[in-house]
Amino acid sequence: MADAQAWKRVLDIAGASGAGTITVVSATSGTTNSLILAAETARTGSLKEAQRISAEIGDKHRKLISSFFALPEVTDRSGSQTCEQHIAALISLLDNYLLGIHTLGELSPKSLDAVSSIGERLSSFLLAECAKAIGIPAVWIDAAEVMKTSSEYGKAAPDMDALFERARRVAHHSANGRYPIMGGFYGSDASGTITTLGRGGSDYSASLIGLALGASAIEIWTDVSGMYTSDPRFVPRAFSIKELSFSEAAELAYFGAKVLHPATIQPAVEKNIPVYVKNTFEPEHPGTRIFSDADADSPVRAIAFKKDITVITVISSRMLLAWGFLAKVFAIFEKHQVSVDLVSTSEVSISMTVDKKTRLDAVQKELEDIASVKIYHNQALISLVGKNMMQSKGVAAKAFDALAEFPIRMISQGSSDINLSVVVENEHAVEAVLALHDTFFPNLPSPVNA
Ligand code: ASP
Ligand code: MG
Repeated sequence: MADAQAWKRVLDIAGASGAGTITVVSATSGTTNSLILAAETARTGSLKEAQRISAEIGDKHRKLISSFFALPEVTDRSGSQTCEQHIAALISLLDNYLLGIHTLGELSPKSLDAVSSIGERLSSFLLAECAKAIGIPAVWIDAAEVMKTSSEYGKAAPDMDALFERARRVAHHSANGRYPIMGGFYGSDASGTITTLGRGGSDYSASLIGLALGASAIEIWTDVSGMYTSDPRFVPRAFSIKELSFSEAAELAYFGAKVLHPATIQPAVEKNIPVYVKNTFEPEHPGTRIFSDADADSPVRAIAFKKDITVITVISSRMLLAWGFLAKVFAIFEKHQVSVDLVSTSEVSISMTVDKKTRLDAVQKELEDIASVKIYHNQALISLVGKNMMQSKGVAAKAFDALAEFPIRMISQGSSDINLSVVVENEHAVEAVLALHDTFFPNLPSPVNA
């Protein structure tokens, strides 16, 4: 969603996919980050600077629109003014929000949602106008009218009953040959206040709408050709995976693959709707197809990794033959609302990983009352994701052979047999992933997947 050319590509894809297609769009690239920066600047710093960021967002969208309306394919220029007005209205709304935040010196999750939703409120409306300008009978759907959610600002949960009910209105448009275009990421709660589903939530919006409408497919169009065997920025030999099962894809999304919002798969599973991850820059590439019983050509499907995590090890001599120790440890994490990703235990110790941004002081203090505690920062989590990995002979042996050179802080095998994870030092992460990738994917696949 970066420029006029990208918008044209998106509309070509939507237009070509035929009547009944519903398009859910994210904000233009970088806009959500800029909006959040503006809000934070308004709270802590200068209002002028915050307003400068806001003006920049306005300019960016104005430029985009004027270059779109200059495209030779545009047959109807009447929407250009409507776009100008929409941009002006939303930027002035944004400025009002910023003034409020600055005056109160306070940025609540509720205010942040109002601000960060502006990216999609802009892009979806403008894209619908651009569609009309090139002859696609589009209709803009305000996600606030359809995506009804709880009031947990910043991570609102969809209200499925309300969503199913409202989605019928969207279906009505497509039944009449129109192309609904709607913003992802945001919605509104029962009182009509704007909410968001969390960063990267446009994918999730799309699959929720897909579920509500009983769609035959959910396509996530992004800037890479599907989900990869590993992050191609670090692993040059990584390649796009042809097919993944729902659980493999969900696991991959949770453990580092940024391509897909982790919650995207969940609604698809419910009605067994296939999810395609495809590339707007390379629409002919098949990308990745995610469905219930995907074919696996190797037990290990991908190697995901996440740097900058923290490992906490809790050691208690009293854990030996004692009951209730694990419960006590987890109660402390629960009390401080710290979410634990990975756990491994022995008779006398327990190791857990948490995100590096987590505030651990209070947790550490309480843990030290019942056991001795060690904290290791700058760690990296590497996960092998696949199917029946432990049942396939030799997977673990191969993995640990590949990792022989690297000190391992922690090992955990997911109970679902779909994830084998190790924790190493940050500085060894990429090398370790390269070694694993060479071991499990020694050959490049046939050209179509390359
Ligand atoms: N624009 C939102 C974000 O940057 C949602 C999305 O892109 O999926 O988080
Ligand atoms: Mg995204």
